[in-house]
Amino acid sequence: SPVILWVRRDLRLSDHPALDATCEAGRPVIPVVIRDAVMDGLGAAPKWRMGLGIGHLAERLEAKGSRLLLRSGEPVEVLRALVEETGAGAVYWMRAYDPASVERDTAVKSALKEAGVEATSFAGHLMFEPWRVETKQGGFYKVFTPFWKAVRGLDVATPLPTPGRIPAPDAWPSSESLEDWALEAAMRRGADVVRPWVQLGEEAAQGRLGAFVAEKVAAYGDTRDLPWTDGTSCLSENLALGEITPRQCWHAGRRAMEDGKKGAETFLKELAWREFAYHLMWHTPHLLDSNWREEWEAFPWNEDETRPEVIAWKQGRTGIPFVDAGQREMYVTGRMHNRTRMIVASFLTKHLLTHWKIGMRWFEDCLIDWDPASNAMGWQWSAGSGPDATPYFRVFNPVTQRDKFDPKRKYIDRWIAEGRRHPSEEALSYFDAVPVSWGLSAGDGYPDPVVAADEGRKRALAAYENRGF
Ligand code: FAD
Repeated sequence: SPVILWVRRDLRLSDHPALDATCEAGRPVIPVVIRDAVMDGLGAAPKWRMGLGIGHLAERLEAKGSRLLLRSGEPVEVLRALVEETGAGAVYWMRAYDPASVERDTAVKSALKEAGVEATSFAGHLMFEPWRVETKQGGFYKVFTPFWKAVRGLDVATPLPTPGRIPAPDAWPSSESLEDWALEAAMRRGADVVRPWVQLGEEAAQGRLGAFVAEKVAAYGDTRDLPWTDGTSCLSENLALGEITPRQCWHAGRRAMEDGKKGAETFLKELAWREFAYHLMWHTPHLLDSNWREEWEAFPWNEDETRPEVIAWKQGRTGIPFVDAGQREMYVTGRMHNRTRMIVASFLTKHLLTHWKIGMRWFEDCLIDWDPASNAMGWQWSAGSGPDATPYFRVFNPVTQRDKFDPKRKYIDRWIAEGRRHPSEEALSYFDAVPVSWGLSAGDGYPDPVVAADEGRKRALAAYENRGF
Protein backbone atom coordinates (compact mmCIF):
# COMPACT_ATOMS: atom_id res chain seq x y z
CA SER A 1 0.00 0.00 0.00
CA PRO A 2 1.12 3.61 -0.55
CA VAL A 3 2.98 5.65 2.02
CA ILE A 4 2.02 9.23 2.74
CA LEU A 5 5.12 11.36 3.09
CA TRP A 6 4.26 14.35 5.25
CA VAL A 7 6.75 17.00 4.11
CA ARG A 8 7.68 19.77 6.54
CA ARG A 9 11.18 21.25 6.92
CA ASP A 10 12.69 18.65 4.59
CA LEU A 11 12.36 20.23 1.16
CA ARG A 12 14.76 17.93 -0.67
CA LEU A 13 15.05 14.52 -2.30
CA SER A 14 18.63 13.60 -1.39
CA ASP A 15 19.68 12.30 2.04
CA HIS A 16 16.04 11.91 2.97
CA PRO A 17 15.62 8.84 5.18
CA ALA A 18 11.80 8.82 5.09
CA LEU A 19 11.67 9.08 1.30
CA ASP A 20 14.51 6.60 0.96
CA ALA A 21 12.75 4.03 3.13
CA THR A 22 9.62 4.26 0.99
CA CYS A 23 11.43 4.03 -2.33
CA GLU A 24 13.58 1.14 -1.07
CA ALA A 25 10.43 -0.77 -0.23
CA GLY A 26 9.05 0.02 -3.70
CA ARG A 27 5.89 1.46 -2.19
CA PRO A 28 4.09 4.30 -3.95
CA VAL A 29 4.75 7.66 -2.27
CA ILE A 30 2.18 10.39 -1.78
CA PRO A 31 4.05 13.53 -0.65
CA VAL A 32 1.92 16.15 1.05
CA VAL A 33 2.51 19.52 2.68
CA ILE A 34 -0.07 20.52 5.26
CA ARG A 35 -0.84 24.12 5.94
CA ASP A 36 -1.54 23.94 9.66
CA ALA A 37 -1.33 26.22 12.69
CA VAL A 38 2.46 25.80 12.85
CA MET A 39 2.84 27.05 9.27
CA ASP A 40 0.31 29.82 9.76
CA GLY A 41 2.26 30.97 12.81
CA LEU A 42 5.49 31.56 10.87
CA GLY A 43 6.91 35.07 10.52
CA ALA A 44 6.50 36.91 7.23
CA ALA A 45 9.88 36.17 5.61
CA PRO A 46 10.20 32.53 6.70
CA LYS A 47 6.67 31.88 5.47
CA TRP A 48 7.36 33.51 2.12
CA ARG A 49 10.63 31.58 1.79
CA MET A 50 8.87 28.35 2.69
CA GLY A 51 6.36 29.00 -0.10
CA LEU A 52 9.23 29.36 -2.59
CA GLY A 53 10.79 26.16 -1.28
CA ILE A 54 7.52 24.22 -1.55
CA GLY A 55 7.00 25.39 -5.15
CA HIS A 56 10.52 24.32 -6.04
CA LEU A 57 10.18 20.91 -4.44
CA ALA A 58 6.92 20.35 -6.31
CA GLU A 59 8.80 20.85 -9.59
CA ARG A 60 11.57 18.48 -8.51
CA LEU A 61 9.03 15.82 -7.60
CA GLU A 62 7.20 16.24 -10.88
CA ALA A 63 10.45 15.72 -12.76
CA LYS A 64 10.66 12.36 -11.00
CA GLY A 65 7.13 11.35 -11.94
CA SER A 66 5.73 12.26 -8.56
CA ARG A 67 3.73 15.21 -7.20
CA LEU A 68 3.43 17.35 -4.10
CA LEU A 69 -0.07 17.59 -2.67
CA LEU A 70 -1.14 20.61 -0.68
CA ARG A 71 -3.84 20.38 1.94
CA SER A 72 -4.90 22.71 4.77
CA GLY A 73 -6.22 21.90 8.21
CA GLU A 74 -5.50 19.99 11.37
CA PRO A 75 -2.81 17.45 10.44
CA VAL A 76 -4.64 14.60 12.18
CA GLU A 77 -7.78 15.26 10.12
CA VAL A 78 -5.93 15.87 6.88
CA LEU A 79 -3.85 12.72 7.21
CA ARG A 80 -6.82 10.57 8.23
CA ALA A 81 -8.75 11.80 5.20
CA LEU A 82 -5.81 11.13 2.89
CA VAL A 83 -5.37 7.63 4.28
CA GLU A 84 -9.02 6.97 3.56
CA GLU A 85 -8.88 8.42 0.04
CA THR A 86 -5.72 6.59 -0.98
CA GLY A 87 -5.74 3.39 1.04
CA ALA A 88 -2.30 4.30 2.39
CA GLY A 89 -0.97 2.00 5.06
CA ALA A 90 1.60 4.32 6.56
CA VAL A 91 2.51 7.96 7.18
CA TYR A 92 6.19 8.91 7.33
CA TRP A 93 7.80 12.19 8.28
CA MET A 94 11.11 13.74 9.27
CA ARG A 95 11.27 14.62 12.93
CA ALA A 96 11.00 18.19 14.26
CA TYR A 97 12.15 19.26 17.70
CA ASP A 98 10.46 22.54 18.66
CA PRO A 99 7.80 22.15 21.35
CA ALA A 100 4.82 23.09 19.13
CA SER A 101 5.80 20.56 16.45
CA VAL A 102 6.60 17.88 19.01
CA GLU A 103 3.18 18.27 20.62
CA ARG A 104 1.48 18.14 17.23
CA ASP A 105 3.47 15.14 16.03
CA THR A 106 2.89 13.17 19.21
CA ALA A 107 -0.86 13.66 18.86
CA VAL A 108 -0.75 12.71 15.17
CA LYS A 109 1.26 9.59 15.87
CA SER A 110 -1.08 8.26 18.51
CA ALA A 111 -4.22 9.12 16.49
CA LEU A 112 -2.88 7.31 13.43
CA LYS A 113 -1.76 4.31 15.41
CA GLU A 114 -5.18 4.13 17.01
CA ALA A 115 -6.66 4.06 13.53
CA GLY A 116 -4.38 1.15 12.67
CA VAL A 117 -2.08 3.19 10.41
CA GLU A 118 1.67 2.89 10.71
CA ALA A 119 3.17 6.25 11.72
CA THR A 120 6.95 6.58 11.68
CA SER A 121 9.18 9.59 12.20
CA PHE A 122 12.76 9.64 10.91
CA ALA A 123 15.86 11.49 12.09
CA GLY A 124 17.76 13.77 9.69
CA HIS A 125 17.20 17.43 10.51
CA LEU A 126 20.07 17.02 12.97
CA MET A 127 23.21 14.92 13.08
CA PHE A 128 22.80 13.99 16.72
CA GLU A 129 19.43 13.35 18.29
CA PRO A 130 19.22 15.71 21.29
CA TRP A 131 18.59 12.90 23.77
CA ARG A 132 21.52 10.85 22.50
CA VAL A 133 24.21 13.27 23.61
CA GLU A 134 24.64 13.01 27.37
CA THR A 135 27.10 14.17 29.99
CA LYS A 136 28.93 11.56 32.02
CA GLN A 137 26.32 12.05 34.73
CA GLY A 138 23.54 11.33 32.25
CA GLY A 139 22.33 14.93 31.96
CA PHE A 140 22.36 17.38 29.08
CA TYR A 141 24.98 19.98 28.16
CA LYS A 142 24.56 23.59 29.14
CA VAL A 143 27.91 24.79 27.84
CA PHE A 144 29.09 24.49 24.27
CA THR A 145 32.75 23.43 24.65
CA PRO A 146 32.06 20.16 26.49
CA PHE A 147 29.19 19.51 24.08
CA TRP A 148 31.61 19.97 21.19
CA LYS A 149 34.13 17.63 22.80
CA ALA A 150 31.39 15.03 23.18
CA VAL A 151 30.20 15.18 19.55
CA ARG A 152 33.29 16.00 17.49
CA GLY A 153 34.46 12.39 17.32
CA LEU A 154 31.06 10.76 16.88
CA ASP A 155 30.22 8.97 13.68
CA VAL A 156 27.91 10.86 11.39
CA ALA A 157 26.03 8.58 9.00
CA THR A 158 26.94 8.84 5.33
CA PRO A 159 24.30 10.86 3.44
CA LEU A 160 21.80 8.89 1.38
CA PRO A 161 21.63 9.30 -2.41
CA THR A 162 18.72 10.81 -4.32
CA PRO A 163 16.23 8.11 -5.29
CA GLY A 164 16.29 7.37 -9.00
CA ARG A 165 12.58 6.89 -9.39
CA ILE A 166 9.82 7.81 -7.01
CA PRO A 167 7.01 5.25 -7.23
CA ALA A 168 3.65 6.97 -7.86
CA PRO A 169 0.19 5.84 -6.76
CA ASP A 170 -2.32 4.68 -9.40
CA ALA A 171 -4.39 7.83 -8.91
CA TRP A 172 -3.53 11.17 -7.35
CA PRO A 173 -5.82 12.74 -4.77
CA SER A 174 -6.81 16.39 -5.22
CA SER A 175 -4.56 19.21 -4.14
CA GLU A 176 -4.99 22.84 -3.15
CA SER A 177 -2.96 25.44 -5.03
CA LEU A 178 0.12 27.18 -3.68
CA GLU A 179 -1.09 30.45 -5.16
CA ASP A 180 -4.25 30.24 -3.08
CA TRP A 181 -2.16 29.74 0.03
CA ALA A 182 -0.62 33.20 -0.60
CA LEU A 183 2.30 32.53 1.73
CA GLU A 184 3.83 35.79 0.59
CA ALA A 185 0.90 37.89 1.78
CA ALA A 186 2.44 39.04 5.06
CA MET A 187 5.69 40.33 3.50
CA ARG A 188 5.68 44.02 4.28
CA ARG A 189 8.79 44.63 2.31
CA GLY A 190 9.38 44.30 -1.39
CA ALA A 191 9.69 40.56 -1.95
CA ASP A 192 11.12 41.42 -5.38
CA VAL A 193 14.07 43.09 -3.63
CA VAL A 194 14.77 40.04 -1.46
CA ARG A 195 14.16 37.41 -4.16
CA PRO A 196 17.52 37.78 -6.00
CA TRP A 197 19.30 36.99 -2.72
CA VAL A 198 17.51 33.68 -2.29
CA GLN A 199 19.30 30.48 -3.27
CA LEU A 200 16.42 28.15 -3.77
CA GLY A 201 16.35 24.39 -3.48
CA GLU A 202 18.72 21.54 -2.98
CA GLU A 203 20.73 21.93 -6.20
CA ALA A 204 21.51 25.54 -5.27
CA ALA A 205 22.34 24.46 -1.73
CA GLN A 206 24.71 21.78 -2.98
CA GLY A 207 26.28 24.38 -5.26
CA ARG A 208 26.77 26.68 -2.30
CA LEU A 209 28.36 23.91 -0.25
CA GLY A 210 30.66 22.88 -3.12
CA ALA A 211 31.80 26.45 -3.77
CA PHE A 212 32.32 27.10 -0.08
CA VAL A 213 34.44 24.04 0.42
CA ALA A 214 36.45 24.67 -2.76
CA GLU A 215 37.04 28.38 -2.33
CA LYS A 216 36.37 29.62 1.17
CA VAL A 217 36.67 27.02 3.86
CA ALA A 218 40.48 27.14 4.00
CA ALA A 219 40.39 30.75 5.19
CA TYR A 220 37.09 30.41 7.09
CA GLY A 221 38.78 30.51 10.51
CA ASP A 222 40.03 34.02 9.74
CA THR A 223 37.24 35.42 7.59
CA ARG A 224 34.08 34.12 9.25
CA ASP A 225 34.01 37.02 11.66
CA LEU A 226 34.45 39.76 9.07
CA PRO A 227 31.11 40.92 7.73
CA TRP A 228 32.65 42.77 4.78
CA THR A 229 34.10 39.55 3.35
CA ASP A 230 31.95 36.90 1.79
CA GLY A 231 33.65 34.33 3.97
CA THR A 232 30.85 32.10 5.28
CA SER A 233 28.79 29.36 3.65
CA CYS A 234 25.37 31.09 3.74
CA LEU A 235 23.91 27.61 4.12
CA SER A 236 21.68 28.55 7.05
CA GLU A 237 18.94 29.50 4.59
CA ASN A 238 18.91 25.98 3.14
CA LEU A 239 19.51 24.16 6.42
CA ALA A 240 16.50 25.91 7.93
CA LEU A 241 14.18 24.34 5.37
CA GLY A 242 15.99 21.07 4.99
CA GLU A 243 17.09 21.81 1.43
CA ILE A 244 20.44 20.44 2.56
CA THR A 245 21.23 18.26 5.57
CA PRO A 246 23.77 18.94 8.29
CA ARG A 247 25.41 15.59 7.63
CA GLN A 248 25.94 16.49 3.95
CA CYS A 249 27.68 19.65 5.19
CA TRP A 250 29.58 17.72 7.87
CA HIS A 251 30.98 15.16 5.46
CA ALA A 252 32.03 17.86 3.00
CA GLY A 253 33.75 19.62 5.92
CA ARG A 254 35.48 16.41 7.01
CA ARG A 255 36.83 15.83 3.52
CA ALA A 256 38.13 19.39 3.43
CA MET A 257 39.81 18.78 6.77
CA GLU A 258 41.48 15.66 5.45
CA ASP A 259 42.64 17.71 2.46
CA GLY A 260 44.43 19.96 4.94
CA LYS A 261 42.08 22.96 4.63
CA LYS A 262 42.70 24.89 7.78
CA GLY A 263 39.32 26.44 8.46
CA ALA A 264 37.38 23.20 7.97
CA GLU A 265 37.34 22.23 11.60
CA THR A 266 35.92 25.61 12.56
CA PHE A 267 33.14 25.00 10.04
CA LEU A 268 32.35 21.65 11.69
CA LYS A 269 32.30 23.41 15.02
CA GLU A 270 29.76 25.93 13.73
CA LEU A 271 27.56 23.09 12.51
CA ALA A 272 27.80 21.74 16.05
CA TRP A 273 26.54 25.09 17.39
CA ARG A 274 23.36 24.45 15.45
CA GLU A 275 23.10 21.02 17.06
CA PHE A 276 23.76 22.55 20.47
CA ALA A 277 20.86 24.98 19.96
CA TYR A 278 18.54 22.04 19.27
CA HIS A 279 19.98 20.10 22.20
CA LEU A 280 19.12 23.02 24.48
CA MET A 281 15.68 23.60 22.99
CA TRP A 282 14.84 19.94 23.43
CA HIS A 283 15.96 19.73 27.06
CA THR A 284 14.87 23.23 28.08
CA PRO A 285 12.06 24.34 25.76
CA HIS A 286 11.62 27.55 27.76
CA LEU A 287 14.67 28.70 25.79
CA LEU A 288 12.08 29.91 23.28
CA ASP A 289 9.97 32.10 25.49
CA SER A 290 11.40 32.87 28.91
CA ASN A 291 14.73 33.88 30.37
CA TRP A 292 16.76 30.71 30.37
CA ARG A 293 18.49 31.77 33.57
CA GLU A 294 15.83 32.18 36.14
CA GLU A 295 17.46 35.11 37.91
CA TRP A 296 16.81 37.17 34.77
CA GLU A 297 13.06 36.87 35.23
CA ALA A 298 13.32 39.71 37.75
CA PHE A 299 15.20 41.99 35.34
CA PRO A 300 13.11 45.01 34.32
CA TRP A 301 13.37 44.50 30.56
CA ASN A 302 11.62 47.26 28.70
CA GLU A 303 8.86 45.68 26.61
CA ASP A 304 7.49 48.82 25.00
CA GLU A 305 7.90 48.34 21.27
CA THR A 306 6.50 51.76 20.45
CA ARG A 307 9.55 53.61 21.79
CA PRO A 308 11.17 55.63 18.99
CA GLU A 309 14.55 54.01 19.65
CA VAL A 310 13.09 50.52 19.18
CA ILE A 311 11.40 51.58 15.96
CA ALA A 312 14.70 53.13 14.85
CA TRP A 313 16.45 49.86 15.67
CA LYS A 314 14.00 47.87 13.55
CA GLN A 315 14.31 50.29 10.68
CA GLY A 316 18.08 50.44 10.72
CA ARG A 317 18.06 54.11 11.71
CA THR A 318 19.68 54.16 15.14
CA GLY A 319 22.43 56.48 13.94
CA ILE A 320 24.99 53.83 14.89
CA PRO A 321 26.31 52.72 11.49
CA PHE A 322 27.37 49.16 12.37
CA VAL A 323 23.96 48.43 13.89
CA ASP A 324 22.08 50.03 11.03
CA ALA A 325 24.15 48.25 8.39
CA GLY A 326 23.24 44.89 9.93
CA GLN A 327 19.53 45.64 10.10
CA ARG A 328 19.49 46.87 6.52
CA GLU A 329 21.37 43.83 5.33
CA MET A 330 18.65 41.70 6.89
CA TYR A 331 15.89 43.79 5.43
CA VAL A 332 17.28 43.50 1.90
CA THR A 333 18.72 39.99 1.87
CA GLY A 334 16.74 38.16 4.55
CA ARG A 335 20.02 37.22 6.19
CA MET A 336 22.55 38.95 8.43
CA HIS A 337 26.18 38.22 9.14
CA ASN A 338 26.71 36.46 12.47
CA ARG A 339 29.00 39.20 13.79
CA THR A 340 26.38 41.88 13.16
CA ARG A 341 23.60 39.67 14.55
CA MET A 342 25.54 39.75 17.81
CA ILE A 343 26.08 43.51 17.63
CA VAL A 344 22.48 44.44 16.85
CA ALA A 345 21.21 42.04 19.53
CA SER A 346 23.59 43.44 22.12
CA PHE A 347 22.61 46.97 21.18
CA LEU A 348 18.88 46.31 21.58
CA THR A 349 19.13 44.35 24.81
CA LYS A 350 21.94 46.26 26.49
CA HIS A 351 22.20 49.79 25.14
CA LEU A 352 18.41 50.03 24.84
CA LEU A 353 17.61 47.63 27.74
CA THR A 354 14.87 46.12 25.61
CA HIS A 355 13.53 42.61 26.14
CA TRP A 356 15.34 40.13 23.91
CA LYS A 357 11.96 38.69 22.88
CA ILE A 358 11.22 41.85 20.91
CA GLY A 359 14.40 41.40 18.92
CA MET A 360 13.87 37.69 18.59
CA ARG A 361 10.43 38.25 17.11
CA TRP A 362 11.71 40.88 14.72
CA PHE A 363 14.31 38.44 13.42
CA GLU A 364 11.63 35.78 13.20
CA ASP A 365 9.68 38.07 10.95
CA CYS A 366 12.59 39.17 8.75
CA LEU A 367 15.01 36.25 8.34
CA ILE A 368 14.76 33.79 5.49
CA ASP A 369 17.08 31.52 7.49
CA TRP A 370 14.93 31.72 10.60
CA ASP A 371 15.47 28.76 12.84
CA PRO A 372 13.60 28.46 16.15
CA ALA A 373 16.49 27.05 18.16
CA SER A 374 19.40 29.09 16.77
CA ASN A 375 17.43 32.32 16.89
CA ALA A 376 16.34 31.89 20.50
CA MET A 377 19.77 30.74 21.59
CA GLY A 378 21.43 33.65 19.75
CA TRP A 379 19.16 36.19 21.39
CA GLN A 380 19.44 34.81 24.89
CA TRP A 381 23.18 34.46 24.45
CA SER A 382 23.45 38.09 23.38
CA ALA A 383 21.18 39.33 26.15
CA GLY A 384 23.10 37.49 28.85
CA SER A 385 20.03 35.53 30.00
CA GLY A 386 20.88 32.37 28.11
CA PRO A 387 23.02 29.27 28.46
CA ASP A 388 26.72 29.71 27.84
CA ALA A 389 25.87 33.37 27.38
CA THR A 390 28.10 36.32 26.92
CA PRO A 391 28.48 37.74 30.45
CA TYR A 392 25.98 40.48 31.19
CA PHE A 393 28.80 42.98 31.73
CA ARG A 394 30.17 42.37 28.26
CA VAL A 395 28.39 45.10 26.37
CA PHE A 396 29.56 45.12 22.78
CA ASN A 397 30.69 48.58 21.84
CA PRO A 398 29.42 49.01 18.28
CA VAL A 399 32.13 51.57 17.53
CA THR A 400 35.13 49.53 18.62
CA GLN A 401 33.52 46.43 17.09
CA ARG A 402 33.33 48.29 13.80
CA ASP A 403 36.98 49.28 14.05
CA LYS A 404 37.93 45.68 14.68
CA PHE A 405 35.71 43.83 12.25
CA ASP A 406 35.10 46.43 9.53
CA PRO A 407 38.18 48.61 9.74
CA LYS A 408 37.86 50.01 6.23
CA ARG A 409 34.10 50.56 6.56
CA LYS A 410 33.44 48.31 3.60
CA TYR A 411 30.44 46.64 5.21
CA ILE A 412 29.00 49.94 6.36
CA ASP A 413 29.47 51.50 2.94
CA ARG A 414 27.80 48.53 1.37
CA TRP A 415 24.63 48.99 3.42
CA ILE A 416 24.33 52.69 4.22
CA ALA A 417 23.49 55.17 1.48
CA GLU A 418 22.98 58.42 3.35
CA GLY A 419 25.80 60.90 3.06
CA ARG A 420 27.59 58.92 0.32
CA ARG A 421 28.28 60.60 -2.99
CA HIS A 422 28.11 57.24 -4.76
CA PRO A 423 26.02 54.94 -2.62
CA SER A 424 26.18 51.24 -3.43
CA GLU A 425 23.35 49.49 -5.19
CA GLU A 426 22.71 47.34 -2.11
CA ALA A 427 22.47 50.39 0.13
CA LEU A 428 19.96 52.00 -2.24
CA SER A 429 17.93 48.82 -2.55
CA TYR A 430 17.08 49.12 1.14
CA PHE A 431 14.87 52.09 0.25
CA ASP A 432 13.03 49.99 -2.33
CA ALA A 433 12.56 47.23 0.20
CA VAL A 434 11.07 49.23 3.08
CA PRO A 435 7.31 49.77 3.33
CA VAL A 436 6.15 53.13 2.00
CA SER A 437 4.58 53.77 5.40
CA TRP A 438 8.04 54.13 6.90
CA GLY A 439 8.42 57.27 4.82
CA LEU A 440 12.16 56.82 4.21
CA SER A 441 14.21 58.07 1.30
CA ALA A 442 17.86 57.86 0.36
CA GLY A 443 17.97 61.65 0.26
CA ASP A 444 17.19 61.91 3.99
CA GLY A 445 20.10 62.77 6.22
CA TYR A 446 21.62 60.04 8.36
CA PRO A 447 20.02 60.13 11.84
CA ASP A 448 21.81 61.16 15.04
CA PRO A 449 22.54 58.29 17.44
CA VAL A 450 19.53 57.26 19.56
CA VAL A 451 22.02 56.87 22.37
CA ALA A 452 25.75 57.46 22.39
CA ALA A 453 27.69 54.19 22.45
CA ASP A 454 29.42 54.98 25.76
CA GLU A 455 26.35 56.34 27.46
CA GLY A 456 24.29 53.25 26.55
CA ARG A 457 26.97 51.01 27.94
CA LYS A 458 27.11 52.89 31.25
CA ARG A 459 23.32 52.83 31.49
CA ALA A 460 23.25 49.05 30.96
CA LEU A 461 25.94 48.43 33.55
CA ALA A 462 24.13 50.61 36.07
CA ALA A 463 20.89 48.67 35.48
CA TYR A 464 22.68 45.38 36.12
CA GLU A 465 24.30 46.72 39.24
CA ASN A 466 20.91 47.85 40.56
CA ARG A 467 19.63 44.33 40.21
CA GLY A 468 22.53 43.01 42.22
CA PHE A 469 24.04 41.05 39.32
P1 FAD B 1 28.45 29.66 8.52
O1 FAD B 1 29.41 30.52 9.23
O2 FAD B 1 28.79 29.22 7.17
O3 FAD B 1 28.19 28.38 9.46
C1 FAD B 1 27.72 27.14 8.95
C2 FAD B 1 26.44 26.75 9.65
O4 FAD B 1 26.68 26.55 11.03
C3 FAD B 1 25.34 27.78 9.59
O5 FAD B 1 24.62 27.73 8.39
C4 FAD B 1 24.50 27.41 10.80
O6 FAD B 1 23.63 26.35 10.52
C5 FAD B 1 25.55 26.94 11.80
N1 FAD B 1 25.91 28.04 12.69
C6 FAD B 1 26.89 28.95 12.55
N2 FAD B 1 26.94 29.78 13.61
C7 FAD B 1 25.92 29.41 14.42
C8 FAD B 1 25.44 29.89 15.67
N3 FAD B 1 26.02 30.92 16.30
N4 FAD B 1 24.38 29.27 16.22
C9 FAD B 1 23.78 28.21 15.62
N5 FAD B 1 24.20 27.71 14.44
C10 FAD B 1 25.25 28.31 13.85
N6 FAD B 1 21.08 31.03 12.70
C11 FAD B 1 20.07 30.51 11.98
O7 FAD B 1 20.29 29.58 11.21
N7 FAD B 1 18.79 31.00 12.11
C12 FAD B 1 18.48 32.03 12.96
O8 FAD B 1 17.32 32.41 13.06
C13 FAD B 1 19.55 32.62 13.69
N8 FAD B 1 19.32 33.68 14.52
C14 FAD B 1 20.37 34.23 15.22
C15 FAD B 1 20.12 35.32 16.08
C16 FAD B 1 21.15 35.91 16.81
C17 FAD B 1 20.86 37.08 17.72
C18 FAD B 1 22.46 35.40 16.68
C19 FAD B 1 23.60 36.03 17.44
C20 FAD B 1 22.72 34.32 15.84
C21 FAD B 1 21.69 33.72 15.11
N9 FAD B 1 21.92 32.62 14.23
C22 FAD B 1 20.88 32.07 13.54
C23 FAD B 1 23.26 31.98 14.16
C24 FAD B 1 24.19 32.50 13.06
O9 FAD B 1 24.22 33.89 13.04
C25 FAD B 1 23.81 31.97 11.67
O10 FAD B 1 23.62 30.59 11.71
C26 FAD B 1 24.89 32.29 10.63
O11 FAD B 1 25.11 33.68 10.53
C27 FAD B 1 24.45 31.74 9.29
O12 FAD B 1 25.33 32.10 8.27
P2 FAD B 1 26.11 31.00 7.45
O13 FAD B 1 25.17 29.94 6.97
O14 FAD B 1 26.90 31.71 6.42
O15 FAD B 1 27.03 30.39 8.58
